[in-house]
Amino acid sequence: MKNPYYIGDSPGLTQTSGWVDAWTSAPSAYAVAATKTEDVVAAINFARDNNLRLVVKGGGHSYQGTSSSADSLLVWTRAMNRIILHDAFVAQGCAGKQPPQPAVTVGAGAIWMQAYDAVTTKAGRYVQGGGCTTVGVAGLVQSGGFGSFSKNYGTAAAGLLEAEIVTADGVVRIANACENPDLFWGIKGGGGGVLGVVTKLTLRTRELPEYFGGVFGTIRAKSDAAFRKLTARIISFYHDHLFNRHWGEQIVFERGNAIRIAMVFQGLDRQQVASVWRPFLDWAGDSPQDFAVENALSILDVPARHFWNAELIKKNQPAVIISDDRPGSPEGNFLWAGDHGQVGQVLHGFRSTWLPASLLKSDQQPRLVDALLASSRHWSVSLHFNKGLAGAPAEELAAAKDTATNPAVLDAFALAIIAGGGPPAFPGIPGHEPDLIAARQHAREIGNSMDEMLKVVTNAGSYVSESDFFERSWQQSFWGLNYPRLVAVKKRYDPTGLFFVHHGVGSEEWSADGFERVSPSGKL
Ligand SMILES: Cc1cc2nc3c(=O)[nH]c(=O)nc-3n(C[C@H](O)[C@H](O)[C@H](O)COP(=O)(O)OP(=O)(O)OC[C@H]3O[C@@H](n4cnc5c(N)ncnc54)[C@H](O)[C@@H]3O)c2cc1C
Repeated sequence: MKNPYYIGDSPGLTQTSGWVDAWTSAPSAYAVAATKTEDVVAAINFARDNNLRLVVKGGGHSYQGTSSSADSLLVWTRAMNRIILHDAFVAQGCAGKQPPQPAVTVGAGAIWMQAYDAVTTKAGRYVQGGGCTTVGVAGLVQSGGFGSFSKNYGTAAAGLLEAEIVTADGVVRIANACENPDLFWGIKGGGGGVLGVVTKLTLRTRELPEYFGGVFGTIRAKSDAAFRKLTARIISFYHDHLFNRHWGEQIVFERGNAIRIAMVFQGLDRQQVASVWRPFLDWAGDSPQDFAVENALSILDVPARHFWNAELIKKNQPAVIISDDRPGSPEGNFLWAGDHGQVGQVLHGFRSTWLPASLLKSDQQPRLVDALLASSRHWSVSLHFNKGLAGAPAEELAAAKDTATNPAVLDAFALAIIAGGGPPAFPGIPGHEPDLIAARQHAREIGNSMDEMLKVVTNAGSYVSESDFFERSWQQSFWGLNYPRLVAVKKRYDPTGLFFVHHGVGSEEWSADGFERVSPSGKL
């Protein structure tokens, strides 16, 4: 249960084994291990004609448990992982309307590791996907999807050129800007498992920058007052030097008065990065009475083409990855060591909110600092800068605006995530049951922590795939003003609600488990 490749290859498992008081991973009664589009068509027709609860699973990384339901029929796309590169792709029906462009077509069951291996390591190009290598391509694109370098390349959904999708009527449709454009828009961020089963996706590819790299370190403050100074300084430093297309990933404000820096960069070299960070490090180093450098800031850089090259990473930086340890597994099967803690975990709580860039204005920074301090008394707060697009190039903002993702993402400089969980566990398995007392206590602390952040951000929205299972106004939070348009697309392509997921578009019409339709009044 700590090997994400093993979990992904098992039709009955999911990457998150559950969420205390929310959901528990459960195998479906039957699974269709689809290898081609016709298998998906057959499964959808069978489920519809027999009134079955249908579940779709690709990479299996839903935190919300939306690719798992007992007593269901599963469409499992894992084996549909063919990848084809194009030099000059034109979407079907778009000849003369769209210029040919380099692209990659990826089967719906592929995970990002496979896409990066084909596109970057083997072909020397870039495709915008997810940070975690074992996340599924189809699930992430339908989520909107952020990768470490999204501050420069935008969301994964915005890079979608075309999808093949089987809708509830069993029809195989092509969705792109010219054919079924409403469906195409809905797939781009409307959430997975809602409009049909996507069987393949074509995404644009780009040129690689010279280098990708990361900056890692931890600075601990020796008192609450010093932590306030440190927090204020790193926020103003971020605003002045890192709030641009070069920088992504995270700074974590830890409960124990430390900040942990785990940021990535692109389009800069090691020397430029060192000089960007120098003033901040000098400032911290000048006050040893206030701050202890727990892990000195280290800068790693690598020619961009080798960022996902398992062979080279194993030679040069073996500690940053963990490999699939099953005998005979492909050498390229790895995950970032930083993601290992999440493999198989049981969630105790998960909250997130986008943080508007207005909070970085100098007169607003003190409010943000106050919120971070108050919040981090309860639980550690991670700011994921790559999951807010403020600071991204104008053309990437325009492309993201043309997706179903909540437009709040355009004005957000980061997504704040406050979350925690425990080791893999399943109720009813002696010795491996979740610790309910600890879990509920953690959930309360996570909630208290987020309440402090929400004092400075009202209705800022949050990312559908990294959010609270118990989110009350989820329609507004995940999609904002786009929700009514998404409902219209849903009604058009799935009028009877064959596709149901928790807090998915149209799920108001169903019981919490998706088995029974509820009346318009909300009663069963
Ligand atoms: C450890 C971890 C790390 C993560 N890192 C990132 C990250 O870096 N960036 C980011 O943006 N998100 C991240 N996420 C969130 C992730 O992108 C979403 O949960 C995404 O939906 C997962 O896709 P999947 O195919 O792996 O998961 P699944 O659970 O298989 O699918 C997710 C949803 O999409 C549906 N779906 C899957 N395949 C299809 C298909 N072919 N057609 C129609 N519906 C489908 C499923 O029914 C389900 O509702 C992470 C999640 C985890 C657990």
